[in-house]
Amino acid sequence: MKLKILLVSAEVYPFAKTGGLADVSGALPPALKKLDHDIRVIMPQYPCTAKAGRKIQPLKIDLKLSDFNGKGTLFSSELTGGVPIYLIEHDGYFNRKHIYGEPGSDYPDSVERFSFFSQAVLEAVKRLDFKPDIIHCNDWHTGLIPVYLKSLYRNDPWFSQTKTLFSIHNLGYQGNFPHSHLKVTGLDESLFTEEGLEFYNQISFLKGGLIFSDTLSTVSPTYSQEIQTQDLGFGMQGILQKRSDSLHGIMNGVDETVWDPETDPLIPANYGPKSLSQKKQCREDLIKIFSLRPNKKSPILCMITRLSQQKGIDLIMEARTALDELDISLVILGTGSAEYESFFQQWSKDRPDNIATALKFDESLGHRILAGSDMFLMPSLYEPCGLTQMYALKYGTVPIVRAVGGLKDSIQEFSDKTGKGTGFKFKIPQTKFFLKSLQKALSCFQQTQTWKKLMLNGMDKDNSWEFAAKQYSSLYQKTLRS
Ligand code: ADP
Repeated sequence: MKLKILLVSAEVYPFAKTGGLADVSGALPPALKKLDHDIRVIMPQYPCTAKAGRKIQPLKIDLKLSDFNGKGTLFSSELTGGVPIYLIEHDGYFNRKHIYGEPGSDYPDSVERFSFFSQAVLEAVKRLDFKPDIIHCNDWHTGLIPVYLKSLYRNDPWFSQTKTLFSIHNLGYQGNFPHSHLKVTGLDESLFTEEGLEFYNQISFLKGGLIFSDTLSTVSPTYSQEIQTQDLGFGMQGILQKRSDSLHGIMNGVDETVWDPETDPLIPANYGPKSLSQKKQCREDLIKIFSLRPNKKSPILCMITRLSQQKGIDLIMEARTALDELDISLVILGTGSAEYESFFQQWSKDRPDNIATALKFDESLGHRILAGSDMFLMPSLYEPCGLTQMYALKYGTVPIVRAVGGLKDSIQEFSDKTGKGTGFKFKIPQTKFFLKSLQKALSCFQQTQTWKKLMLNGMDKDNSWEFAAKQYSSLYQKTLRS
């Protein structure tokens, strides 16, 4: 059955990106369109959206909401495959340098910004004459949409047949704010209860999404189990346990129009499973960019990541002395906490021939680093899905990951006896276990044919969005029947 779907996200690649949420929001819709759904996307318009290289046109539709200052205006553009995307402009709320706030924090008026966005989305679809069967909300910024639908918009005939799916991309980000901000949302005080928006005496946008949506999903099967435990539930495990029948784990995919070494315009030489030797040119390019001086037969490792505790950066810091004794080079591309940034900066200053750090968010450099490296490190403490390890597979850059969440699901341990597997995994987040996995990888690297087999196993793996899109499609249908 062809469905009318509206996907709502605070960031959508290539219009705005801080992490994996943008990649998913930009790639799932074209895959759903291929399944013949009428899928449309909506997001805020930020200054950075103008740099996406896409034509953005005004729709001459104003969104003036009684609960909020100023007015929004609607724009439209297209994603890959001709998927319509609408952008809500509001000078006061979204015309800012950052998407969410200064790195590591949210703007103080986040409640107002994302409450406005959520209500404006509902008004926008009416003005666009689009009656969605499913509104697919993503992460806390959209958590109030299901709440509005079941309160302020409960009797609105436009939405009488509309159901909601709320996808959790990272439970660690919850949009919790002081109770006093509730009035800004336009929602009634009666919703501030344990069964409603109240979370440890604050209001929680995420909890709103978890409780008021018809169906829930998260981005890998393992993470859907982990978030129901005290260890990784971030206080929401009780709610998720209660809703476990409605909670589904669907693995993200790889957008092969963006991440494919055979066609990638951002890397110096294209290569694929049948032209592996060209990857050498990408390695040479990487060496040149960072003036590295690796031994000819030693591997280049890389990390492309937010520098936050979640990503297991402390493990790398603890392992520094041991890593310094190995014949390896390491390139880090990332931004985040000042402590981590200065650690990597100092490390590359101490060992400029083998350690390189780029403290910035640079999409194009990310592609070149991934293509030029031999191994990719992702020792996350928790990882809902993780995308970069799947991009690494595609680029023949062998992942060494912690066996958690989507990393556990997407990487199979390599065995040099059977020749099966795509990378290396360790379970316990301690330096000695990480180093053990790394040692195993380094010894395989010395066996040219074994390493080639391992690279090819990863490159041949089909992680395209087609499979995930089919699963979302079934989940939407199931949600409509519920
Ligand atoms: P998360 O969403 O938790 O940050 P993911 O692995 O799901 O992690 O997605 C991260 C996305 O952001 C990937 O596309 C990755 O390549 C990209 N990325 C992260 N940091 C940087 C950076 N400093 N420069 C360029 N791309 C980055």
